[in-house]
Amino acid sequence: MKLPWSLLLNKSELLRGLPAVDELLRHTELTELRRSHGHDLFVEWIREAINQVRRELQNGRDVGTDQLFAAIIELVRARVNSEAQQVIRPVINATGTILHTNLGRAPLPALAIERMRSASAYTNLELDLDSGERGRRGARVMKLLARLSGTEEAMVVNNCAAATVLVLQALAFGKEVIISRGQLVEIGGGFRLPDVFNSAGVILRDIGTTNRTYCRDYENAIHEATGAIIRVHRSNFAQIGFVTEPSIAELAALWRPQSVPVIDDLGSGNLYDLSEFGLQEPRVATSIEAGADMVLFSGDKLFGGPQCGIIVGKKIWLEKLRSNPLMRALRADKVTLAALEATTEIHLSGNAFRQLPVLQMLSRAAEDVRSNCTSVVEQLSSAARRRVTVVDCQSQLGGGTLPGQVLPSFAIAIGGPHLQPLARALRLGTPAIQGRIKDDRLLLDLRTVPDAELKVLAERIDALLRDDPGGAS
Ligand SMILES: *Cc1c(COP(=O)(O)O)cnc(C)c1O
Repeated sequence: MKLPWSLLLNKSELLRGLPAVDELLRHTELTELRRSHGHDLFVEWIREAINQVRRELQNGRDVGTDQLFAAIIELVRARVNSEAQQVIRPVINATGTILHTNLGRAPLPALAIERMRSASAYTNLELDLDSGERGRRGARVMKLLARLSGTEEAMVVNNCAAATVLVLQALAFGKEVIISRGQLVEIGGGFRLPDVFNSAGVILRDIGTTNRTYCRDYENAIHEATGAIIRVHRSNFAQIGFVTEPSIAELAALWRPQSVPVIDDLGSGNLYDLSEFGLQEPRVATSIEAGADMVLFSGDKLFGGPQCGIIVGKKIWLEKLRSNPLMRALRADKVTLAALEATTEIHLSGNAFRQLPVLQMLSRAAEDVRSNCTSVVEQLSSAARRRVTVVDCQSQLGGGTLPGQVLPSFAIAIGGPHLQPLARALRLGTPAIQGRIKDDRLLLDLRTVPDAELKVLAERIDALLRDDPGGAS
């Protein structure tokens, strides 16, 4: 009988038997992988694998010298697979949260994707093709945005947080900016307004109380050191009960020096009356009509476009922003501007609810979601079907909108054991699928899953549930 090597060799002999990096590099099984990942990175992974096996040997792992090679190669392969999983790649969003920041917020409309592709080559980004002269960066996008929001001018920066910093710094550096205490919010991702004020070099002048701020509080606070008045939409939480704050119209009507603009940081960039869907989100046009000098919002929330920060408002203010050095640091890239142009055209064409994924998903009838759930279940094998039901649930708007703003929806619910490993297996496959676990069930809310993804979703669920022995019981 053949004895395991480990019994014949002592530990130090085994350690000496570890192959060298060069030996492994010559191994034909690894040649192909090395080519696609580059020599240096690959050598690093091989070293890590050797070190790991060495540690395991030192900790008494029972492995023969003839198996050392294979053990290391397996670790290198696992490393290569893990890299492939971490690549930025598509995820099927079965969370039901339409604007999921972790999943990259708004999925883009087909027209935007097409324009991004063509803009990734050389483009007329800053060239007027008619005259052959240098043109204003993204001139047409800015014109369309101004038209869409009913303002004189528009500007685009990297995101809404950048828009806030730029506006404060360019218009009120070293001066006081008045804000109601009830609006000193943290948006998420560490975006806390007092810190933003600080980094923009403006002095925070918070007025009123947490729940009540009156026009007279603003009037009393305005003096020669005032640089601006800002209202920040309380995107992610609500105040109810004994609450008062002036409207934008009231703020715009306050007596103030001409040098003090009223800025409305809206965040979500909603253009429509969403009350028929049971949602209350302020509209950009409402603030403009009420007299705000500037309105700031994100491109990738309810606007349904790429990540960017959009500033719309009066020309006198936007000219000041444009000449600020920070603008150069915060400007959006050509691919973003191309996608934004397409999204804006869709809004202007009146087809937003047909063509923008965010608005399609938001306006989808719960019954349609239910019938998609049923059709996915029908595609499952009978073994897999035993573990799933279709249940009603609530989809969230997300993206820093109110947690209370929900839409009735339906989900495929997977019951039984091993839900965490199952959820992980769904995430790690291709395409990745993200659901959520609630009340001992894994829910896949199909409001946020396009019809084109239903088939592959069914295939992946089926493959996993058939393989899961826990499910058979
Ligand atoms: C979301 C939000 C922001 C931040 O927007 P980003 O585009 O993510 O930078 C700023 N202000 C408000 C009111 C928001 O809701």
